Amino acid sequence: MKRTLIKHVLSSGNVNDEVLVQGWVKTRRDNKGFSFVEVNDGSCFGNVQVVVESSLAGYDVNVLAAATGASVTVRGILVSSPGKEQSTEIKAVEFKLVGDNGGEEYPLQKKRHSNEFLRTIGHLRPRTNTFGAVFRIRSVCAYAIHKFFNERSFVYLHSPIITASDCEGAGTMFQVTTLNLEEAAAKGKVNYAEDFFEKKASLTVSGQLEGETFACALSNIYTFGPTFRAENSNTPRHLAEFWMIEPEMAFCDLRGDMEVAEAFIKYVISYVLENCADDMKFCNQWVEKGIIDSLTKVVTADFGHLTYTEAIAALEKSGEQFEFPVHWGMDIQTEHEKWLTEKHVGRPVFVTNYPKEIKAFYMRLDEGEKTVSAMDLLVPRLGEIIGGSQREERYDVLKRRIEECHLNIDEYWWYMDLRRYGSVPHAGFGLGFERMIMYLTGMTNIRDVIPYPRTPGNIAF
Ligand code: ATP
Ligand code: MN
Repeated sequence: MKRTLIKHVLSSGNVNDEVLVQGWVKTRRDNKGFSFVEVNDGSCFGNVQVVVESSLAGYDVNVLAAATGASVTVRGILVSSPGKEQSTEIKAVEFKLVGDNGGEEYPLQKKRHSNEFLRTIGHLRPRTNTFGAVFRIRSVCAYAIHKFFNERSFVYLHSPIITASDCEGAGTMFQVTTLNLEEAAAKGKVNYAEDFFEKKASLTVSGQLEGETFACALSNIYTFGPTFRAENSNTPRHLAEFWMIEPEMAFCDLRGDMEVAEAFIKYVISYVLENCADDMKFCNQWVEKGIIDSLTKVVTADFGHLTYTEAIAALEKSGEQFEFPVHWGMDIQTEHEKWLTEKHVGRPVFVTNYPKEIKAFYMRLDEGEKTVSAMDLLVPRLGEIIGGSQREERYDVLKRRIEECHLNIDEYWWYMDLRRYGSVPHAGFGLGFERMIMYLTGMTNIRDVIPYPRTPGNIAF
């Protein structure tokens, strides 16, 4: 007989169906004459209740040994349940213990464990309600992202993970080498000509520059891949390895960029609310109270718009005591971002036209040459979720900006070439995938929305 996932048993099973389910025991209660076993297989939030009569063959060795965490195979008939927790249950015809716990106590007992503790058992945490919900939502969210771009004829681009260009400038890079570090240290110098690529190579911090190349050929592209930043920031919003989505659009300015970003965020929220109802219900109750309501409002709200200059003026007038004092020219910190989106605007807000000194060289210089056509999307609870810009498409201006930023122009010859031959206005943005999962689930630590978090000093699993 073929296995049925519990998701399908619960959503489309009919009374009198014969089913075979396989999963892990959540709880077991033994009564006189029969046992109730709650089984979960991770295909959905819900468990299926199995009723096993003590007269069933092998009851003692299979059912009475099936403790929380044990894996089981159950064949039975779907019957309507007298209990109020569920509408149907399985009356077992056959109950097989597949893997027991060897008599040892299962680390995940019924009580609620802290997320910090669960990080120390990273191999078992997917079996909890919270992490099951988070990782099903993560999967559906990834699908929604591909669906959004596919429906709009964006080409999915695989930008390289190993790069020799030092030019992204988005953060500190992890070096990739096959050189023997001890030998190099003994010699007192490193000869990159002897390294694998015969030059210095690193893990990518952004696929943007490669994305621009393809947008300037295929019009609309997006990347969706792993990104690495060796920034030593131990915050609840930063990982050393994370996933980023980076669309890039030719013949597009900053306004068009923000229109796509807004439609994109709303589409993904709607899709997840619609397709992860049970998991979202759990998050709504146990992770972030009221999150369904607040996300539902975001879908219909118009996102706010503030220039950097307006944002600074509002922060200065706010009367709030910030840890980092506010002045024009400073980098907006998380505390400021949260105030702007939560208190000042009360919904997601784009902050645009930042001072050129605090943004990357490739962002398009505004008239007056003090600011650039950059945008950050700030959302309640998180602050920055998206960073984007219109790119500098004017050859002479870009050359001047590279020189002003003391970058080596020779390294950018191919990037400059895009501005020599058929240059076009173009724009794009980067969405941190894990920030989006935090936004959707209400999880407050980024380590708890990626399967295996990598942070400074931590690569435990
Ligand atoms: P932040 O100011 O929050 O550190 P950033 O300005 O360095 O971010 P960008 O270079 O604009 O980030 O990257 C685009 C997006 O990638 C950000 O808006 C954010 O959602 C995400 N992101 C950036 N750094 C990280 C990180 N270390 N871990 C997880 N997500 C990140
Ligand atoms: Mn940014």
